[in-house]
Amino acid sequence: MAKEERKSTKKREDGTQPIALPGIRRFQFFSNLRDRSLTTNLNRLAMLGIGASLALDVVKPIATGLPQTIYCYECRACYATQDKCPMAIQYQAELNVASRVGDHTRFIEAGGMKCIRCGNCVSFCVVHLDLPRIFSRGQQRVIEAIEAGRIPRNRIVEAMHKGLFGRQFIDRVAAWLEDTEQA
Ligand code: SF4
Ligand code: SF4
Repeated sequence: MAKEERKSTKKREDGTQPIALPGIRRFQFFSNLRDRSLTTNLNRLAMLGIGASLALDVVKPIATGLPQTIYCYECRACYATQDKCPMAIQYQAELNVASRVGDHTRFIEAGGMKCIRCGNCVSFCVVHLDLPRIFSRGQQRVIEAIEAGRIPRNRIVEAMHKGLFGRQFIDRVAAWLEDTEQA
C-alpha cells in the first residue's frame, strides 16, 4: 500500500503536465515522471551532476584563456575554408573543440600545430570567432603540455613523422625529443 502511494506521488497529474502552448499541455511518457531516477534524492544528485558538468564546460575554457570557444556551434561551416587555408587544414572546428576541451593530441592530429594564424578561415565562421587567437592559444597549450611531459612521447614522434609540426614549432619539439631521448 505504502509502495503504491510512493509510486503515485512520482507520477505527474494531468493538470501539472508541462505547457507547450497556452491552453495545451505536452504529454510525454518520459516527462510523465516527476523524478526520472529511482528516488527524489537520486534525481537531485543526477541533476546536480548535469549542472556541474555544464558549468565545467563554461568554466574550463574561461580558466584556460579560451572563452570564445564556448560560442562555437560545432556547425562545421568553417570547413568551407578548403583551399583558402594556406596550410591545407581541413577541420577548423576540430581545432576549436580540441582547444576548448584541452585535447592536445586531437589538436595536433587535426593540423593545429601547422596553422600560421592567417585568419582566412574567419570569414567562413558563422559567428566570426577570432580563430587565429584561439588556435594560437591552443598551440601555446600544446607546447606547454609537450614540455611538461603530458603528451605520450610516441604520439609526438608519430606527429613529427607525419609533418604535423609547422616551422614555428619544429625546432623546439625536436630539441625536446632529443633531450628526452638522452634522459
Ligand atoms: S588561420 Fe590557420 S586554419 Fe585558418 S586558414 Fe589560416 S592557417 Fe588555415
Ligand atoms: S563555423 Fe564557427 S561556429 Fe561553426 S564550427 Fe566552425 S568555428 Fe564553430
